[in-house]
Amino acid sequence: MSDHHSVSADAAAGAVEPSGRVPTGTEAEEIREFWGRLGLPGLVDVHTHFMPERVLRKVWEYFDGVGPLTGGLEWPITYREEETERTARLRRFGVRAFTAMLYPHKPGMARWLNGWAVDFARRTPDCLHTATLYPEPDAEAYVREAVTAGARVFKAHVQVGAYDPADELLDPVWGLLAEAGVPVVIHCGSGPAPGKHTGPGPITRVLARHPRLRLIVAHMGMPEYEEFLDLAERYGEVRLDTTMAFTDFSEVLAPFPRRALPRLAALGDRVLLGSDFPNIPYPYLHQLRALERLGLGEEWLRAVCHDNGAELFGL
Ligand SMILES: [Zn+2]
Repeated sequence: MSDHHSVSADAAAGAVEPSGRVPTGTEAEEIREFWGRLGLPGLVDVHTHFMPERVLRKVWEYFDGVGPLTGGLEWPITYREEETERTARLRRFGVRAFTAMLYPHKPGMARWLNGWAVDFARRTPDCLHTATLYPEPDAEAYVREAVTAGARVFKAHVQVGAYDPADELLDPVWGLLAEAGVPVVIHCGSGPAPGKHTGPGPITRVLARHPRLRLIVAHMGMPEYEEFLDLAERYGEVRLDTTMAFTDFSEVLAPFPRRALPRLAALGDRVLLGSDFPNIPYPYLHQLRALERLGLGEEWLRAVCHDNGAELFGL
């Protein structure tokens, strides 16, 4: 089924040579060829997961469980490695900037996650300092603290958090983030399985109140691709990340409608590379190839894989 397995796990595990050179025949080399051919200085990936070790282990256990939330599909984690190996790997791939998407599934957890993320950003200069939120009474206070501390992007997970993004407790938070111009990557589509508040409805109510909010809709809004394209067309600050979209894995689960390709092309300045590294059931390279095979051209690929993110984050 195409290039899923063109890079073996062994090749993908290629280590850096002492010289710092990327060994030939490895996934890293193929990825560098991809962006090098486009004339880019590297990649900007707005959707990678770094979180406290024991939280990440829980996430991995959950994927291992093949529950209803993975759509009942096998979900082998390709990059199940120690944190230092994972950051080193992104650098070998030539990812210039990435994020630490972390998110709470219950109240009282976001502040603690944000504390960890401050430290992670400090020791990982190529990570865009990331923070998160949850509808709770102190949300406005800790979001303000995070912005003051230099958070450059937020993550909100409507499915895992099982909250309504239009909850009134979040109203001042969205207002604050819109004002500060800090983007929020939000998982609000109903893939891989719907939640009580997923889908375009609740987030449309948020945008009606905060039209300047810089939302980055994760996974292209999968599977409600067209409804989220509508939102991006209506609101100039709404963007979409490519995370897992267009891959063989997602095309089985929720195929992107071919008729929407011209709209995707037209929104080329507001589509951002996202990967879901390390929690992906295929090699990183496959996400890039999946974008390439859309056939939208090199200019589109340059914007999506690097330039849009570089501009948004002032890199
Ligand atoms: Zn993700």
